[in-house]
Amino acid sequence: MQKGQKIPIYSVFTGRTENLERVEKTDSEWKAILTADQYEVARKKGTEPAFTGKYHDCKEPGLYRCACCGTDLFSSDRKFGSGTGWPSFSAPVSPLNVLSAPDRSYGMVRTEVLCARCGAHLGHVFDDGPAPAFKRYCMNSASLAFIRRSQTIQKSV
Ligand SMILES: [Zn+2]
Repeated sequence: MQKGQKIPIYSVFTGRTENLERVEKTDSEWKAILTADQYEVARKKGTEPAFTGKYHDCKEPGLYRCACCGTDLFSSDRKFGSGTGWPSFSAPVSPLNVLSAPDRSYGMVRTEVLCARCGAHLGHVFDDGPAPAFKRYCMNSASLAFIRRSQTIQKSV
């Protein structure tokens, strides 16, 4: 990826796709703005233990953004109770806003999900989600920042 390259990102606030610069920072820059848990999961591809994250049982209406760069990632409208202990969604707010990559770590073949704008590790996507798409985006709370819908509305005014 070229530095300063612009990529299309969908904004829930405006309902539009905008060309935004990729967010690139060094490890020490990320460390300075993230908590230890956020850094370990989002920048070092860690996984928070099941049922420990702050959003696995969150049922509030709102928007889940990237904890690193603020990109809109998932809506509560597509969140479902997977019973896995991680926040689970059937789809992102837009396919533009996430990237996927093959992950062969730990002797498994999985599909990693990353923030399209800053490359944060978000979690993995599996094919056992609800109909009709059967996708289960199994995310780490540490990589997400939740905004309640009432706050979302205020910010969009
Ligand atoms: Zn991001």
